[in-house]
Amino acid sequence: MKVTFLGTGTSQGIPIIACDCSVCQSGDWRDKRLRTSVMIETEGKTLVVDTGPDFREQMLRANVKKLDAVLFTHEHRDHIGGLDDIRAFNFIHQQPMDMYGEERVLKALQEMYPYIFAEKKYPGIPELNFSVIKTSPFSIDNIEIIPIRAYHYKLPVLGFRIHDRYWDSAFMILPILPMPTASLKRRNTRLRVAVTWLSMDCARKNTFRTLRLMKR
Ligand SMILES: [Zn+2]
Ligand SMILES: [Zn+2]
Repeated sequence: MKVTFLGTGTSQGIPIIACDCSVCQSGDWRDKRLRTSVMIETEGKTLVVDTGPDFREQMLRANVKKLDAVLFTHEHRDHIGGLDDIRAFNFIHQQPMDMYGEERVLKALQEMYPYIFAEKKYPGIPELNFSVIKTSPFSIDNIEIIPIRAYHYKLPVLGFRIHDRYWDSAFMILPILPMPTASLKRRNTRLRVAVTWLSMDCARKNTFRTLRLMKR
């Protein structure tokens, strides 16, 4: 399993437009961060989590020639704002892009991209094959994906545990925590045993309730 962090910035990216703070003015490459997205290559498939406004740049920068599916954590603009550029892969692969997200994400896509869902479609627009998911595990060929409930302040969002059966490794990406205790308990054993790598939000240095899980 190969994991590429395509973006690790905040919703505005770093640097932030017109910000004069020392981070945004820094010349250090580590202070240049695109909007959050991760690419997972495993079992001959390439998956991307979220298609934010930097999606096009991220695909070009990582020289991605093949994309099999997109998983969505939630529907905020910084996670879906680059979806239109998925059509480059529609052209290359000559098929709709498989996408997985909650009902709310689908509704947000329908509102943000009405032309994609129009009855009479303009030629060349993105083509999606959207599957509505909840928190039940599902598979993309040999890749097992377990959606994990997390909360982005009060918004229920999804993290994903992605299990590579061949290499027996698992990667879990979690957006902003805390994960509800019930959800944690229910899946506790499985997570402890199976997760090889864990990626989660820790945007602040100071104590913050979203970091509660890190202390455990
Ligand atoms: Zn700044
Ligand atoms: Zn968000």
